[in-house]
Amino acid sequence: MPDRDEPWTILRLLNWTQSYLRDKGSESPRLDAEVLLSHVLQTDRVKLYTQYAQEVGSTDRASYRELIRKRAEGSPVAYLVGRKEFFSLPLSVSPGVLIPRPDTEFAVVECLDVLKGRAEPLVVDVGTGSGAIALAVAHQRIDARLVAIDLSPDALAVARSNAERHRLSDRVEFVEGDLLAPVADRGPFDVIISNPPYIPTGVIPTLDAGVREFEPHLALDGGEDGLRVVSRLIEQAAPLLKPGGHLILEIGSDQEQPVRDLLGSFPELEPAPTVRDGAGHPRVIRARRRDG
Ligand code: GLN
Repeated sequence: MPDRDEPWTILRLLNWTQSYLRDKGSESPRLDAEVLLSHVLQTDRVKLYTQYAQEVGSTDRASYRELIRKRAEGSPVAYLVGRKEFFSLPLSVSPGVLIPRPDTEFAVVECLDVLKGRAEPLVVDVGTGSGAIALAVAHQRIDARLVAIDLSPDALAVARSNAERHRLSDRVEFVEGDLLAPVADRGPFDVIISNPPYIPTGVIPTLDAGVREFEPHLALDGGEDGLRVVSRLIEQAAPLLKPGGHLILEIGSDQEQPVRDLLGSFPELEPAPTVRDGAGHPRVIRARRRDG
């Protein structure tokens, strides 16, 4: 950062960083600058504007400069501040977990919808990562019990700390394991929900650099056709659902038909209309286990 005689006020820092990050290719340079500076100053983002003429001291400037350097190299803001909001819940995130996406909130909405009228529902979140889906459902439905599974011990540590932070540990159980293996002799369940890895291996190199280089490929890579995990998950889920229970899956925007075809091999599962995300793309597929 160029050092001139004028003081480095909040406003001047934000303006400088905005153009710097824009040149470095950020699509949201102002927001990035605001989030990172409010993190360093331990204040709310909107409060920056009531203090914009205030000078930022050299220690804070050094911390901020370090964050801006990492952001300019492509590191996602959520990892830099260790935090991301999902379904109005602030969650801790680290590079061991996928950053929760707004798209995934559509899966939570679908889950809350099908849980209406069911008392003390039992729900499984497969590949919980930061715990986003499980914790959002537990937070919204105080009578629900959840099992949240992940293959990654690092992810489970993050998810458990998020549960503690939101006082949901007594209703959300975290289990390490592969897909539904840890609950194979439990259930049946009202809902099995998942945002599984669904990106075809060959597509990973084309993802945004921030995703490709910083987020865990374990949470993204769905094998050669992108459906390797999804197909195993459907097969394991079908017998574990209560009659009238639901399987809810986040999918890639071009996977609606292939996933419907996979569901077609399970006559006991009845697919529901696909849910579209905020951009209008197919994003969440649900199937109901037929009664009897
Ligand atoms: N939607 C995520 C992305 O585009 C992928 C999530 C996933 O594979 N489950 O980065």
